[in-house]
Amino acid sequence: MAIIPRSYKEFKWAKAYGANLITSCNNCSMDFSDENTHTPEGWINTQQTGICEDCHEDFLDNMYGDPT
Ligand SMILES: [Zn+2]
Repeated sequence: MAIIPRSYKEFKWAKAYGANLITSCNNCSMDFSDENTHTPEGWINTQQTGICEDCHEDFLDNMYGDPT
């Protein structure tokens, strides 16, 4: 079963154990951290999409338009 971190703490812990994680964003090249990923959903997405939460938000805004 894959380890899917849901927080920066879990991400760092899993990384310390050598779990096979995606560790940086494919779009902005930044390492995942609490600077660019903020919610449990965002953390799960890092391992499913390979991009940070900030980039994921930008992606959705650009694709579907920002409703605000
Ligand atoms: Zn990013």
